[in-house]
Amino acid sequence: MSEGEEAERGGPAGERCDRCRYWVLDPRDVNADVLDRQGECHRHAPVPSVAAVGEDLPDGSYPNVLWPFTFGDDWCGDFAPRGDL
Ligand code: SF4
Repeated sequence: MSEGEEAERGGPAGERCDRCRYWVLDPRDVNADVLDRQGECHRHAPVPSVAAVGEDLPDGSYPNVLWPFTFGDDWCGDFAPRGDL
């Protein structure tokens, strides 16, 4: 995917999680296609996740709170450009 195609996704003013100061790329996705990259949103504290309760993580733990996980081209109204850091 080219940079031009990438820019067409996200919010109406170019908001994208992967351009947001609160987003942390999942290190497993560093080499993934732009549209397949996921990361954690750190805008708010970790939240309970019903879907994750009882599921095994690779390290064998059982999480019941998680940072929200989003794709790089997702966005929300709390978007803040990385340049604001
Ligand atoms: S969900 Fe909103 S606040 Fe969180 S990383 Fe994406 S744009 Fe930023």
